[in-house]
Amino acid sequence: MTATTEVKPLLNAKGPRLLWLDLTRKCQLNCIHCYNASGPQGTHGTMSRENWISVLDQASDAGITHVQFIGGEPTLHPDFLELLEHTLTVGIQAEVFSNLVHVSESCWELLQRPGVALATSYYSDQAGEHDAMTRRRSHARTRANIARAVRLGIPMRAGIIAASGARHIEETRRDLGSLGVTRVGVDRVREFGRGSGGEAPDAANLCGRCGDGRASIGPDGRVAPCVFSTWMGVGNVQLAPLHLILTGVAMAEANAVIRRAAGKEDDCQPRCYPNQTPCYPAQTPCTPKGDFPTPCQPDLAECYPGFPSDPCGPGR
Ligand code: SF4
Repeated sequence: MTATTEVKPLLNAKGPRLLWLDLTRKCQLNCIHCYNASGPQGTHGTMSRENWISVLDQASDAGITHVQFIGGEPTLHPDFLELLEHTLTVGIQAEVFSNLVHVSESCWELLQRPGVALATSYYSDQAGEHDAMTRRRSHARTRANIARAVRLGIPMRAGIIAASGARHIEETRRDLGSLGVTRVGVDRVREFGRGSGGEAPDAANLCGRCGDGRASIGPDGRVAPCVFSTWMGVGNVQLAPLHLILTGVAMAEANAVIRRAAGKEDDCQPRCYPNQTPCYPAQTPCTPKGDFPTPCQPDLAECYPGFPSDPCGPGR
C-alpha cells in the first residue's frame, strides 16, 4: 500500500483489474489502420510523470493486477522505463505493446524482469506486405526484435492484423512459429482512428465487454472503458481519484451503452468475477444468468489481452 489513497481494495468487489496505460500518440510508424491515429507527429499529451506514478499507486491500492503499456509506441515516452519499473515495484504485472522497431539496451534489461511480457503486431511474413501497413520499412527490425525477445526468454505474443486482401496469414503464423512465438492471435482492422475510413466511432464495433474488469487511461488523463472507446470518456485522473472514476456512474452508463450496442445487455454474467453479486458493473436491470464457468477464471484468463482468442485485445 502507498500513502496516496485510503480506498478500499477493489479486487474482491466491483471494479476493473486491468488498466491500459495509453501513454502517447507518438510512434515511429504511421500505420494505415492505427485505431488512435498515432504517428511521428503525435504528442505525449498532458499527463506528467507524477500523474502516471500516482495512477500506478492508486491502481495498486485499488487491486489492479495487470497493466498494459500501449500508445502510440509506449517505449518512446520519456518516462517509460521509470513507469515500468514503478509498476513492478507496486506489485502489478505489465505487458508492453510495442512495435519493436527500436528497443534500447536499458529497455531490454527491464523487459527481462519477472512480471513483464511483450506483445507486438506483425502484419505479414512478407516484408512488403508488412511495410505497406506500417508505411515505413519496419519489417526487418520488428522481426529481429521478436527473435531477440524470444531468445531472452521474455514472454511474447503477437497479433496478426488481417487487412482487407491480406494473403499470408498462415505463412505469417508459421514465420512467427519459426521465431519461437507460439501465442499468436489474428484480428481484423478495427473501425476506429485511421481504421475507420473517416466514419465516426460506433460502440457497435466494440467487443461488448469493454469496461468490464478493465479501463484505459489516455495521454490526457481521460479514462475510458477501453483503448478503442476513448470517445466515451468517463472521467479524468488529473481531476478525480482513479477509484471514484472506475466505480462511478459515468463508467456504469458507458458500459450499459456498450452492452446495448453489442446486443449483450442480458449477457452480464461476470465471467471473470464470480464473487460479485450483482454482476459488475452495477447494471440495472441486470441479473446474472446461469452458472459461472467451470473452472472459473478469476484472473481474467478469459479476457486479459494476453490470450490470443481475446476479442477485446488491442489489435493495432
Ligand atoms: S498501429 Fe501501433 S505501430 Fe502503427 S502507428 Fe499506430 S501505434 Fe504506431
